[in-house]
Amino acid sequence: MKNLILCALSIVVLSACNQNGNNMTNNPLLTEFNTPFQTPPFDLIKTEHYKPAFLEAMKQHRTEIDAIINNPQDPDFENCIVALDHSGTLLHSVSSIFFNLLEAERSDEMQAIAMEMMPLLTAHSDNILMSAPLFEKIKAVYNQRENAGLDPLATRTLEKLYQDFVRKGANLTESEKSRMMEINTQLATLSLQFGDNIVKEINGFKMIVDNLDDLKGLPQENIDAAAQDAIAAGEEGKWVFTPKKTSWIPFLQYAQNRELREQLYKGYHQRGDNNNDNDNKALIQKMVSLRLEAANLLGFPNHAAYVIDENMAKTPENVYAFLERIWVPALKVAKNELAAMQKIANSEGVDSPLIASDWWYYAEKLRKQKYDLDESEIKPYLQLENVRDGMFYVANKLYGITFEKRTDISLYHTDVETYEVKDVDGSHLAIFYIDYATRAGKSAGAWCTEFRSYRKEGEQEIFPLVSVVCNFPRPFGDAPVLLSWDEATTLFHEFGHALHGFFTRGDYRRIAGDIPRDMVELPSQIMENWAGEPQVLQVYAKHFQTGVVMPEALIKKLVNSSLFNQGFMIVEYNASSLLDLDWHTITQPFTKDVNEFEQKAMDKKGLIKEILPRYRSTYFSHIFDGGYSAGYYVYRWAEVLDADAFNAFKQSGDIYNQELAAKFRKYILAEGGFDDPMEQYKRFRGAAPSETPLLVKRGLQ
Ligand SMILES: [Zn+2]
Repeated sequence: MKNLILCALSIVVLSACNQNGNNMTNNPLLTEFNTPFQTPPFDLIKTEHYKPAFLEAMKQHRTEIDAIINNPQDPDFENCIVALDHSGTLLHSVSSIFFNLLEAERSDEMQAIAMEMMPLLTAHSDNILMSAPLFEKIKAVYNQRENAGLDPLATRTLEKLYQDFVRKGANLTESEKSRMMEINTQLATLSLQFGDNIVKEINGFKMIVDNLDDLKGLPQENIDAAAQDAIAAGEEGKWVFTPKKTSWIPFLQYAQNRELREQLYKGYHQRGDNNNDNDNKALIQKMVSLRLEAANLLGFPNHAAYVIDENMAKTPENVYAFLERIWVPALKVAKNELAAMQKIANSEGVDSPLIASDWWYYAEKLRKQKYDLDESEIKPYLQLENVRDGMFYVANKLYGITFEKRTDISLYHTDVETYEVKDVDGSHLAIFYIDYATRAGKSAGAWCTEFRSYRKEGEQEIFPLVSVVCNFPRPFGDAPVLLSWDEATTLFHEFGHALHGFFTRGDYRRIAGDIPRDMVELPSQIMENWAGEPQVLQVYAKHFQTGVVMPEALIKKLVNSSLFNQGFMIVEYNASSLLDLDWHTITQPFTKDVNEFEQKAMDKKGLIKEILPRYRSTYFSHIFDGGYSAGYYVYRWAEVLDADAFNAFKQSGDIYNQELAAKFRKYILAEGGFDDPMEQYKRFRGAAPSETPLLVKRGLQ
């Protein structure tokens, strides 16, 4: 999941704002949404509305902050903390809409606005978080907290907000603060450039095939999709393959032509490393050095120590040790997988050692040999709509919630579907948007985000607008969209984040839904477990032509094959996690060669050359463009939690155990931010999480 880029302010903005003042009354972003469920009126929002909306929203936010600062009364929880907690609503709304559309509908105009606004937003945020008079007030309330008669939630909100300011540099000297602001502004711009370069690299690489013989082995649907991509690229009659997942993965899995597999994989793994205008290496040097400098200013030895201090893991050392415990057995399994694949290759007449781009092809053969399972056997049972209905079914069985399709909600693209989510008693919970198909201009991957988070205004509840965005294949003619197993579980995963969004509650925005980075993937990853349960597959995995449910034998094969290729999967993921940590535990500004650093980091851990890190540095968006710096490990960390949590359902003998589901909803999804994450987990589970269920699930124990 990608987290929404949140708001940030400046005095400069105010004067700029007035120049755009005359547009304001006609700007749909600045008027109340007169729509069903106050959803954004996408049909009315035009690109030119964003800039004046940002400027006005920052101005309003600044006015709210100034009112707190200039309040003549002594600062207290209500007039300072609650006022701060409730400030910036308009800016949050404008930012949510803009940045979500930037990811889903990127255009040169949107990118230009982002590049112009980002420094202003960062400065805006910095000006608030480093405001000395504001911090004085917060500190006064904080210092009095023992005697203020606050309840635990109010106390936690106060402590969190106080920490936000300290972590941002509120305790720094004036000259340190101004350096910190420069760093933040530079980082914001650099990360936007990084992301933009990747999009350009993806759009800039095409492997054009003009001989059908070169596509031998590839399923017909992938050949058809490549023909469609060729038409879009002005190469009608040929086939085009790109570094997008829906294109390169099937090609590497199935195409017999080894040279072309290598060529396409290179197009994928060289992104941002082509020594052209889109090269990301210089940006990485600058970003890691700036992050180190910022961490040092705040009294941390490195960026990772700063980031992880707020997480469940607490220190980089704990994360290294955790990754190591899994790395060692996983690398051993991966080497066994390679040896088994080499054997198959040799038996087919390949007389050279396998290389990295061969892994998918021979893994597929190994899967067939060992588990007698061919991915193409499963796909007919994974029609997109059926998978979606399957996840709705699971949510209904667990939580009693229902989904009603809406056709009266404004959409930013015709690909998007909307649902009203209702609680077990029929009351309104949320609006849910799903944007399935891959498009030019959409960022890669899949994510869950919100156009509006749950909040309370006095006694009134404002309900969330949650959105899931994927890059599934586009429908081709009348043919239904069939998902791969990976795509089906991705949909369940993102839906898990969406459930977190639907269920989040709390009087204070700062702590509502606030769980640390290394727990935030628990709600999502636990849903993947249900996707693969035989009992659940029997409900949703129906053949797209006959409607017959997946035969028991095939379900058994699918379940058995869950141990397939696990060595590779864990190693390529952990390699990227380690690379991320290495980049962010540097203690000197980095001016050396990026690729050399990467190679050394991998050699040190004994990574075999047949496996590349899942993300190489130059296209590692999570850490250089997505807010997951020193945090890529969190998915694996959360896997301990999700394996242990799902085990509770299994052990109870009922995967839909409603008592457990109610506890999971309350302590993790609704109130996860109300206390220390470990305490909340124990309230759900009755004990701290054990690593054993993960090791067993992954075949490492
Ligand atoms: Zn996620």
